[in-house]
Amino acid sequence: MLELSRKAAGVAQSEIRIMSVECEKVRGINLAQGICDTEVPKPVQRAAVEAIHSRQNSYTRLDGVANLRCAIARKMREYNHVEVDPEREVVVTAGSTGAYYSACIALLNPGDEVIVFEPYYGYHVNTLRALDCTPVYVTMHPPEWIFSHEHLRNAITPKTRAIIVNSPANPSGKVLTREELEFIAQLTIENDFFVITDEIYEYFLYDQNLHISPASLPGMAERTITISGFSKTYSITGWRIGYAVCDARWAQSIGYFHDLAYICAPSPFQHGVAAGLEELEPAFYRDLAMEYRAKRDLLCTTLEQIGLAPSWPQGSYYVLADASALPGSNSKEKAMHLLANAGVASVPGEAFFSGGGRNLLRFCFAKTDSDLQEACRRLSRLSVGAPAC
Ligand code: PLP
Repeated sequence: MLELSRKAAGVAQSEIRIMSVECEKVRGINLAQGICDTEVPKPVQRAAVEAIHSRQNSYTRLDGVANLRCAIARKMREYNHVEVDPEREVVVTAGSTGAYYSACIALLNPGDEVIVFEPYYGYHVNTLRALDCTPVYVTMHPPEWIFSHEHLRNAITPKTRAIIVNSPANPSGKVLTREELEFIAQLTIENDFFVITDEIYEYFLYDQNLHISPASLPGMAERTITISGFSKTYSITGWRIGYAVCDARWAQSIGYFHDLAYICAPSPFQHGVAAGLEELEPAFYRDLAMEYRAKRDLLCTTLEQIGLAPSWPQGSYYVLADASALPGSNSKEKAMHLLANAGVASVPGEAFFSGGGRNLLRFCFAKTDSDLQEACRRLSRLSVGAPAC
């Protein structure tokens, strides 16, 4: 019989993509999707083009070219304070998404429980579902997105196989503190499970917040899979270059499953990214954070002024705002109202929760200054309930 698999029958189009299509229809400004349209750093562009011209267009080793693996290992040592062997413990992947998917296949069995903080990034949860694992949610609460230690402890069962950490987080902008990470580390060691940490926004940090990699905490290196990538930092979402670093026992199998789906990450782009890691000075990363902080400030101030109270993000480039004042009985209706009346697309908050989020909207500020300014002008003209002072 011609029919979809049981898994495929249950899947639905992501709200982020749906809102982007709706936005296109009304020629709105898309603050729904995280597309960085800032400039790709020059050394990264140059080295990718040179690689194409010098015929570096074939398959690479399944875990990536040596210069990129070495550059990642150096960056892990200097920025993340994690020691890794570039020969055996780094797998270059098709975006951090390729790393996450391959790590989940390599480490998780059907029926395993995996702890996920909510609000969550949809791909984290949907990948778990696709692999017949069960997400177990621990809710974080605004405005600072704090989670209860008790709740986290109670979420652990004999079936718990891993916890997903995402800091700085999409969509909340939460940056986990050292104390919070130490508590998570203690639980994972006591109960013997993995940490899969998605650190794709590791350079997008505001107001003295620091990035701490779970793998750098005592006793954590062997049980932590650190995932990151260059889509956001170098504005190359379409290039698909990311990585997983972890103990060689796990890296080998992650590489195996990544090979099955992708064979390797795009070869010339691996060289482009390696040049970025080798040539860009620390000031590049500091400037990036400053540039995005100004974008955050503009958007959050506007949201505050029109009465959609934002939880000011500590990192990443998203903000969740309280849309209670907008008409609509759920977050989708509120997002559609905003799009129809202000011409600005956001994502309904319910896309990030297992049950909540009815009054929340997510806005992305990874936009050019002119697009963001125009979006803020449009939002300011909107009349929403009583404005905050
Ligand atoms: N992880 C998180 C938390 C994200 O928000 C995104 C993109 O929005 C990704 C991963 C995707 O990263 P990549 O382009 O490296 O696959």
